[in-house]
Amino acid sequence: MNSPVEYLTGISAQRGELLRKELNIHNFKDLLEHYPLRHIDKTNVDKIGNISLNDEYAYVAGVLQDMNLIGEGRSKRLVAHLKDGTGIIELVWFQGIHWVQKMLLPGHHFLAFGKLGFFMGKPQIAHPDIEPYTAQKAGGKEHLEPIYPSTEKLKARGLNGAALSKITFELLQKIAPKDLPENLPADILTAYKLMPRYDAFKQIHFPSSEKNYQQALRRLKFEELFYAQLRINLIKLQRHRFSKGWAFEKVGDLFNNFYSHYLPFELTGAQKRVLKEIRKDFGTGKQMNRLLQGDVGSGKTMVALLSMLIAADNGFQSVLMAPTEILAQQHYISISEYVKDLPVHIEILTGSTKTKKRKQILEDCAEGNVQILLGTHAVIEEKVQFKNIGFAVVDEQHKFGVAQRAKLWKKNTLPPHILVMTATPIPRTLALTAYGDLDYSIMDELPPGRKPISTLHRNESARPQVMDFIKDEIKAGRQAYIIYPLIEESSKLDYENLMKGYEEVKSFFPEPTYWISMVHGKQTPEIKQTNMQRFVAGDTHIMVSTTVIEVGVNVPNASVMAIESAEKFGLSQLHQLRGRVGRGADKSYCVLLTGNKLSRDARERLKIMEQTNDGFKVAEKDLEIRGPGEIEGTRQSGALNFKLVNIVLDKAILEVARNEVEKLLKGDPDLIMAENLLVKNYLQQQQHKTGWGKIA
Ligand code: ADP
Ligand code: MG
Repeated sequence: MNSPVEYLTGISAQRGELLRKELNIHNFKDLLEHYPLRHIDKTNVDKIGNISLNDEYAYVAGVLQDMNLIGEGRSKRLVAHLKDGTGIIELVWFQGIHWVQKMLLPGHHFLAFGKLGFFMGKPQIAHPDIEPYTAQKAGGKEHLEPIYPSTEKLKARGLNGAALSKITFELLQKIAPKDLPENLPADILTAYKLMPRYDAFKQIHFPSSEKNYQQALRRLKFEELFYAQLRINLIKLQRHRFSKGWAFEKVGDLFNNFYSHYLPFELTGAQKRVLKEIRKDFGTGKQMNRLLQGDVGSGKTMVALLSMLIAADNGFQSVLMAPTEILAQQHYISISEYVKDLPVHIEILTGSTKTKKRKQILEDCAEGNVQILLGTHAVIEEKVQFKNIGFAVVDEQHKFGVAQRAKLWKKNTLPPHILVMTATPIPRTLALTAYGDLDYSIMDELPPGRKPISTLHRNESARPQVMDFIKDEIKAGRQAYIIYPLIEESSKLDYENLMKGYEEVKSFFPEPTYWISMVHGKQTPEIKQTNMQRFVAGDTHIMVSTTVIEVGVNVPNASVMAIESAEKFGLSQLHQLRGRVGRGADKSYCVLLTGNKLSRDARERLKIMEQTNDGFKVAEKDLEIRGPGEIEGTRQSGALNFKLVNIVLDKAILEVARNEVEKLLKGDPDLIMAENLLVKNYLQQQQHKTGWGKIA
């Protein structure tokens, strides 16, 4: 399998080099994994009379009836008819007419193959593959013919799809079952009726029937998912067993005191459950690596705070990292308010912390006086040293990568526990695949008393009515957001739109009856902060903003959000924005304003937004519409780089494969049992190639 492709007929050193460069095909194995896009079926000659509107291709034999040039200039075409005992089919050429005319002779027998079209219900093939009939050829092929993807450069060197087909066919003749040994346990093969591995490779390239192709595909997808899950689960298992971490042995005064006297509300069931999971992790003496997925507004901050109090009770410092300055400030304000009567030292460190203050904070951190440090990424910079850091919370971010973790590792003799709280939920299936090496908590419950947000899609022409509605809400004491799209921070056009919008909003809401804040990415942190703060304090009625307020911002009194050019936003972004309202006890509204012309995708997104408030459902739909590659935060870990699998469409196989992996590892975590030897061997063989060891 490791033999270079040059061992195959017609692959010169030059062509081999091109295969490596263009398709990353180095050896036999790579070629076998260069799967066909689709197949064409020439195994049977079709009866013309049996062709139905559902057929995509036809392979027919018959006598050529006639051949006529029709039309002039660009619409000039050659039309011929082929007739068998059951019917007549039309063949048509727009190009290469001269050459075809020479080859075709009315009254003679021909075989024709091609993509079917229908004209007034009658079958037609444009530019068919056509050749003189021989009984041998019409006897049909033994297998479907694969169509392979190729590239322009390869085609220029004679390595088109057909040539790839030829060398792949040759390769499959060369190899025997021992070259592609089975890598799935026998009981799994039996239980799911999976095709043996060697057969699967043969059938996926040159299937003897459509059914066999589907079976081959299923088997190879299963294998792909099985090993992806196995690797990621093994990483997690290794971590659980061997990683050392701080043991937070007790729940002390800070936590208990806060919990019994200062907790501003009863925790939701989901918050309690997740807190329990975290406490359990804290106590094991292993390092925690937990992903917390919670819908917008589910109350992740409180879970983080309670966990940080446990760390403090055990003599450890914590950091909480937020993606933006605004958010870090908000956390600081709300968290310091919660614990204002408790002896716990909290500080905030961001890019805009003044030099003198910064110096003081750095000192206090190093000496261990600061127990909880909030901030942006500034908190993990090298200059920030701790006396005894034990816990790090990463809020509203999936993109907390290996490099950032490495920075944390260096800050104490053992790595701190880590809790990553996501900005937007991603579907469970995807989460467990992409983040399967992390432990996983879910908060699928909103605090009680929240009224669902009504989401409405309106045409821009209804803007005056929408503004009137906002006026009514403001009269009733509420506040409103008006959001403008800002696709690129630097885009001049986007800013012009924002400024135009701001002027327009001002004309609807004149001072001094109304006061407006505006926040966007080009402002200095101080200005942003001041404007934000005025809105939070209720000094302004309206917040005009770009998506900088997308995550985390919490102003419970805000009850309406109007989103301008809503068609320009992705689903998860819309959901995240909408999550800024509906945070208090009032009925809230989200109005999606759009132009008239909407793409189908945009229409679908808006409809989903109108239909559901459930972030997990939104995420599921988002995944269906956009595919996994586009989902924010799916790491470049390789966990989602599948060759055959489509994580959306193959969810059923994924579930089964994951179950089997879990079962297998439960019974044999070290893969030492004889029946798992083939799994272990295959895994080891793959390991050094993929660099999987590097993640986590
Ligand atoms: P998110 O999960 O989006 O970060 P937050 O932590 O900002 O959500 O919480 C959203 C709002 O819900 C805040 O105003 C918070 O005080 C409130 N909240 C959190 N937990 C509860 C609860 N158990 N009961 C009532 N309100 C809660
Ligand atoms: Mg939050």
